Amino acid sequence: MQHPQVTIVGSSNVDITALMARLPGPGETVLADSYQLTPGGKGANQALAARLAGATTEFIGAVGRDAHAEVALSQLAEAGVLLDRVARTTHPTGVAIIQVDAAAENSIAVVPGANAQVTGDAVSSLGELRGILVLQGEIPASGITAAMDAASDRVVLNLAPVIELPREYLLAADPLVVNEHEAALVLALLDGTSEVSTESEPVIARKLIDHGVSSVVVTLGAQGCLVAQGQGIEQLAAVKADAVDTTGAGDAFTGALAARISQGDDLVKAAEFAGKFAALTVQAHGAQSSYPRSLENL
Ligand code: AMP
Repeated sequence: MQHPQVTIVGSSNVDITALMARLPGPGETVLADSYQLTPGGKGANQALAARLAGATTEFIGAVGRDAHAEVALSQLAEAGVLLDRVARTTHPTGVAIIQVDAAAENSIAVVPGANAQVTGDAVSSLGELRGILVLQGEIPASGITAAMDAASDRVVLNLAPVIELPREYLLAADPLVVNEHEAALVLALLDGTSEVSTESEPVIARKLIDHGVSSVVVTLGAQGCLVAQGQGIEQLAAVKADAVDTTGAGDAFTGALAARISQGDDLVKAAEFAGKFAALTVQAHGAQSSYPRSLENL
């Protein structure tokens, strides 16, 4: 097998996306205009983004022996992501049920299914993981820590959603990639408190670094991102974009960031590229289907 520049251990799902004028409240039914069945899951999204951003990429995860498995992996296969170590389990392929309103706001329910089988035992049986390792919070914590133990290179930890990990694994993230809400939650974990900080993003990023996290990228949607490392902190503006659906923008950012790190960019340069890549994705509906197939406009 080819040696990947980026290895992603994480979730793959089928996204069932309904488009509607406004999101329903609790107990309410609204009529949606249309729906799509598309591949998703943070791990798979990031693997596709890393591949499309130019890195030889391996995706490691688990799917079911069901019809959704083919949908879940279809775009990765088409893009040439290495899939030899994806497990076929007796559990159903993960499903995300996504609602998107006219203002591009979304709400998402995820049924993990086979993704819950990406455990410490499953991951440690795979041996060494080559290249830049990318992880998210949609597989069990034991799978994340086992992957970090098997890493041969730098680890990009996109702790979304935020799950509890032993402190030393949080600190080893290089970078930790989180949005503003997740940044405050990770800080609470490191502070050992249930109180979530309402301080500004730069203050939270600085405190994460002061705890000993190797480097931090805080994504800020249309405001761009913050890059914090050592004594420095830089705010990078987003590229202007007419957003119609931001589903998967953070994943596009993380995958593209890892690809550029694997090609030798420093963190700020990689984040600049990732911001441009992610801005293209918010201008079309869906997650993977909105990712740019050509780098010409970047
Ligand atoms: P988020 O996960 O929403 O913070 O978005 C991740 C990254 O995608 C951001 O850091 C931006 O680089 C990019 N992005 C998200 N939303 C927009 C937007 N409306 N316009 C331009 N770029 C965006």
